[in-house]
Amino acid sequence: MKCPFCSEINNKVIDSRLSKDGRTIRRRRECIECDRRFTTYEKLEDVLPMIVKKDGRREPFSREKIISGIRSACQKRPVSATKIEEFVDSLELHFQELGKKEIDSTEIGERVIKILREWDEVAYVRFASVYRQFKDIKEFMAELEDILKSRKEADLS
Ligand SMILES: [Zn+2]
Repeated sequence: MKCPFCSEINNKVIDSRLSKDGRTIRRRRECIECDRRFTTYEKLEDVLPMIVKKDGRREPFSREKIISGIRSACQKRPVSATKIEEFVDSLELHFQELGKKEIDSTEIGERVIKILREWDEVAYVRFASVYRQFKDIKEFMAELEDILKSRKEADLS
């Protein structure tokens, strides 16, 4: 990314944000040579990593797929569409900023699980049971007990 004023190649990013439609990243940059600032726009599709699935197949990062997975877990639960979209925005920005060419699908799955656990227990259990494919009912119950315990603690405090 050349500085438009002095053609220096190196610069630092001062601020990154997603456009309203979530498809473009706007960055404020500062040239390390002349200290002047300029703005660049990058398409998200071009900078997002490929997803490596558990069986080793690769597929492009799909915002729609992640959203629809979260939505189905949140069906009839008090989680707004905006909340889901904002979360996926932040995911995209995060992985884009990591700058890796590939990431494991589990990196996304675990992040989704974590946020659902904060949002809604039912949605969390739905997603986790599909995603983690609990080997048996014992494993599943242990997870549930964990949730109930942390809820009790939260109620007491
Ligand atoms: Zn410059």
